Amino acid sequence: MKRILLLLLLLPLPAYAQQYDILIRNGRVVDGAGNPWVQADLGLIADRIAFVGQAAPGVTAKQTIDARGLVVAPGFIDMLGQSEVNVLIDKQAFSKLTQGVTTEVTGEGESVAPQDDFTIREAKDFLEHFKLTVDWRTLDEYFRRLEAQGSGVNIATFVGATQVREVVLGKEDRAPTKEELAKMEEKVEDAMFDGALGLSTSLIYAPANYASTEELIALAKVASKYGGIYASHIRNEGDSEMQALDEAFRIGREANIPVEIWHFKVAGKQNWGKMPQVIAKIEEARAQGLDVTADQYPYVAAATSLGATIPPHFHAGGQEAFLKRLRDPAVRRQIRDELMGSGGALENMWRGTGGPEGILVVSVLDPALKGYEGLTVAQIATQEKKDPLEALLDLVIADRDNVGAAYFEMSEPDVRLAMQQPWVAIDTDYGALNTVGPLSESKSHPRAWGTFPRILGKYVREEKVLRLEDAIRKMTSLPAQRVKLADRGLLRTGYFADITIFDPATVMDVATFEDPNRPARGIEYVLVNGVLSLDHGRLTGRFGGRPLRGPSWLGRSVSPDGLPPRGKIEGVITDEDGWPVLRAAVSLVDSSGKPVVTDSTKKDGRYEFPSAAPCDPCRLTVERDGFASAAQFVHYNGANSLWFSFALKRVSAQPTTDD
Ligand SMILES: [Zn+2]
Repeated sequence: MKRILLLLLLLPLPAYAQQYDILIRNGRVVDGAGNPWVQADLGLIADRIAFVGQAAPGVTAKQTIDARGLVVAPGFIDMLGQSEVNVLIDKQAFSKLTQGVTTEVTGEGESVAPQDDFTIREAKDFLEHFKLTVDWRTLDEYFRRLEAQGSGVNIATFVGATQVREVVLGKEDRAPTKEELAKMEEKVEDAMFDGALGLSTSLIYAPANYASTEELIALAKVASKYGGIYASHIRNEGDSEMQALDEAFRIGREANIPVEIWHFKVAGKQNWGKMPQVIAKIEEARAQGLDVTADQYPYVAAATSLGATIPPHFHAGGQEAFLKRLRDPAVRRQIRDELMGSGGALENMWRGTGGPEGILVVSVLDPALKGYEGLTVAQIATQEKKDPLEALLDLVIADRDNVGAAYFEMSEPDVRLAMQQPWVAIDTDYGALNTVGPLSESKSHPRAWGTFPRILGKYVREEKVLRLEDAIRKMTSLPAQRVKLADRGLLRTGYFADITIFDPATVMDVATFEDPNRPARGIEYVLVNGVLSLDHGRLTGRFGGRPLRGPSWLGRSVSPDGLPPRGKIEGVITDEDGWPVLRAAVSLVDSSGKPVVTDSTKKDGRYEFPSAAPCDPCRLTVERDGFASAAQFVHYNGANSLWFSFALKRVSAQPTTDD
């Protein structure tokens, strides 16, 4: 025994003797629950928070971050992130990490799964441009691909009502038959089992718009059965917003499902100032017991495709059919008549922005059309000596309906009032971009780059619209609770180490509509599942993002955190009578005789080797004073757990070797 002890003392202090992998010292900890900040240290082990409190001076860690003067918050959760495909093109999620975002909730109406030949064909321009192959059909297959590839941020997603409709009905403007609806319900169920957060809709677009409320209720019932929520870009955010909210509430009540109103706003100049009534309507629904909440981005301009200006029924049949129609002079006259009318059930973005001055082209897919980026439709019309609506239609045709635009259609007082509601979370509603590489090609809406720092800089520090702690709650625990993200959104022992550290005195957005692709300032460190991904504001090249699976994921009991199942070798060491033997040294020894890992049994005789590394063949050895050594050959593949117990034979009382 003494010899062994001596040997141990001579060894250099191994890395695992450090108490924490990362220690964050001296920060102002804002826990995400809305509580006032406290001065505290955080100790992280692997992907979890292991300690929150006052760390003793002698506490050791492999890496220490001095957060003096900085705010330490849970990683921000983007309630509508739109990066599910972007992270496959560029996994870094640069524009999100530089805002402090660690998790994205996404999947608006058209979700990343299910896919079939039709949905893939409809995305052909985009996929070819970015050389992306859709090699998944189900959500589980998408998640596996994402996991194999890695990602800067965690990704959680809804299954889109539009997506399941397209897989079953294509883009036809008709109701599903009974059999078709049953098939759609099945697709929703499959996605829920694969880990979708619930059902989503985006009802201003085609073919989402073709769905009746009854169809959506039927699908929402399936999501509800499996613990999902219903998230919606409601059918109208302008003239008929009240009716659109009524539809969302009806779906919530009849499907018995919580409702999330995405990118909450009052759209259309003619509707400015109506936010108090809209808020009152939501408060009333809540008072009556409907679980409804919302989220928003802090800008007065919306963003979507330029083609979305054209009413949904013209889009029937899909991209080619839509583009063919736009070339027909009679159809163009019809579009003009509808857009110049006073609106009604359909949301009229042409009228809502006040016309062509209020629509800014931000992105095109065809490089030959790059010159249009940064111009309003009015400027394009002047430049080309065309009528503005004709100019818009021509550009939609030229870029095959791949133009992105910003629509100036909201008022600042409405945006601020929405922000002050405690049930409104934050979203960027824009996929991750970068300053280099394929995702840097186009301009964008500044919300893609500045949303979260803009809230912390402009609305918290400068204009005092929100308390810092309330703003952070909206970015963290509120969305985590909403979509049931387990162990995220708060700084608590045992929670995942998604952490954002920023300078409250300097944090700010710098992206503008003129010059949008500029990373925000003041976000100093970002950790995703314990991986330091942003260090002093710069990417470290290490990415910790994971797929986050929803409440009914089938694999939850095997791997609660959504990682591939990891095996372990475990067991109980007893004496021959079955009494536990404590402090027995259990080692896993590889074929060369080198111990891979060792453990010492606890009071109940248990030992455990959590391990992802296969060990085949290996030997499991057990040593304990007073007992004969025992050993067992082991074939361990790293994934399937093994249980080996030993009943040790006592060696009859001998004079101790420890003289
Ligand atoms: Zn939307």
